[in-house]
This record gives sequence, structure tokens and C-alpha cells, in this order.
Amino acid sequence: MSTRVVLASANPGKLVELQAMLAPLDLELESQAEHDVPSPVEDGLTFLENAIIKARSVSRATALPAIGDDSGIVVPVLDGAPGIYSARYAGTHGDDAANNAKLLDALVGATNRAAYFYCAIVYLRHADDPTPLISTSAWHGQIASAPSGGGGFGYDPLFVPEGGSATAAELEPATKNRVSHRGQAVAGLVNALRAADIIDA
Ligand code: IMP
Repeated sequence: MSTRVVLASANPGKLVELQAMLAPLDLELESQAEHDVPSPVEDGLTFLENAIIKARSVSRATALPAIGDDSGIVVPVLDGAPGIYSARYAGTHGDDAANNAKLLDALVGATNRAAYFYCAIVYLRHADDPTPLISTSAWHGQIASAPSGGGGFGYDPLFVPEGGSATAAELEPATKNRVSHRGQAVAGLVNALRAADIIDA
């Protein structure tokens, strides 16, 4: 019998993407939107803490196992900003253009433009699970001097992954999903689920 798991996200795009990546597992991924789940206060100071807070809240509300994730972009020369505040770096949640403009502004004159996307994803067997399965991944690159490309979302038009000259917004979606912080973190979680014998493959 397949295991019911709730994804701690109201984003339908994320559900579809994760359902596809988790397809090889005997797991039925349900949306938080199908359940009456209040949004928790994300008051962690790390991506990992916030991923756990989200998953724990959903697991508590549904009495089902839950997957939670958190991601963003980290710029070391800016002491890690935008970091866990990536979605609302410029003030308004999800204003990608304003976030990108603020990041370019912050880097005027900087010689070190290194950056990485980071994703933490966790699986909680139940709300009080003391040993959640954890997978994290970083995708390294540089911040360009101007946005370029029409694909992707968020900071993709500014992010040039290591080893190439195209921005993440210029990559084919399938290519991005394979190499990105989220793609790699999900792949790691799939391995951890298998290793922990939680999901019958
Ligand atoms: P969340 O994981 O959906 O909360 O993402 C937080 C924010 O990080 C997004 O709103 C984006 O600004 C940024 N972000 C996370 N992943 C990506 C990505 O793959 N490309 C571009 N921006 C991203």
C-alpha cells in the first residue's frame, strides 16, 4: 500500500514538480491545499529550520507524514543575504523584479560576485519525529551584471551557474531541474527515503 505524504506548500507548481521527481517511489503526495492547514510562522534562521517548521506544522495538522522545503539564494560577500529572506528581499513577498534590482544594487562595485542557490528538504514521519530525513544541496555560480533570459523565476535571470555563460533563466527547464539546488536536494531525499526503508520502491 502506498504511503500518504503531505507536501508543506500551497504552490501547485511545486507539487507537480515533486510528484514527477518522486514518481519512482510508492508514495502518494498530497497538497497542503487539500487539507485545512494554517500557515506556520517561519521564524527559523536557516533554510533547514524553516523546512522543518513547515513540515512539522502540516504533519501536526493532518496526522500524516510530511515533506517541507525551503530555498533561496545566498551571496557570501553580502553576509549570506538575501538568504532565507530571498522571496521578500526588496520588501514585498514574491516581487522578483524588485528583488533582482536590489541585489544588483547591493553588488555595485563588488569584485566578488559568487553566489549559490540553496535548498533544504525534509521528511517527517510524524510531527514529533526526532530524526527527520534531511537533504540539502547548493548550486554554485555568479551574479551577472544585468538580467538575461525569460525562463525560470525569482533570481534565475541573474544567476550564471558555474561552468557556463548562460543564466539559469536561459536553461531548458529539464536541464535546470536536473542540476539545480532543488533537483539535487530532492534526489538526495529520494535516496534517504529508500535507505531508511520508509518507501517501498
Ligand atoms: P521558496 O523555497 O519557494 O520559499 O523560495 C524562496 C525564494 O527563493 C523564491 O521566491 C525565489 O526568490 C528564490 N528561489 C528559490 N529557488 C529559486 C530558483 O530555482 N530560481 C530562482 N529563484 C529561486
